[in-house]
Amino acid sequence: MGLGTFLSRLLPGRRRDGPSCEHMGMVQVVTTEAEGCEECLKTGDGWVHLRLCMICGKVGCCDDSPNTHATNHFRAEGHALIRSIEPEDSWAYCFVDEVMLPDPAAGAAAR
Ligand SMILES: [Zn+2]
Ligand SMILES: [Zn+2]
Ligand SMILES: [Zn+2]
Repeated sequence: MGLGTFLSRLLPGRRRDGPSCEHMGMVQVVTTEAEGCEECLKTGDGWVHLRLCMICGKVGCCDDSPNTHATNHFRAEGHALIRSIEPEDSWAYCFVDEVMLPDPAAGAAAR
């Protein structure tokens, strides 16, 4: 399978869901039950803020945290889309396009 085929599978039809990010069509997960960074919980480390991978649902810690697991996860897996799961936050972010995005969960949440 060539790279072109791989990319077209990864990005089916260029959907215009976000400002300038075509990855938003790949979002699978917008909420989580997790209350901590999975990796930090394993090692007993602390974190500052939590980020949710919207591709696979993995919870990691932000770049202010000592272990920056959310960014590590993007580097390791190529999962570009995260959102903040801090209660006071409502935003998402694409690592590839380096843009802030509207929080996909915000519209879904009843308030
Ligand atoms: Zn993107
Ligand atoms: Zn962590
Ligand atoms: Zn992921």
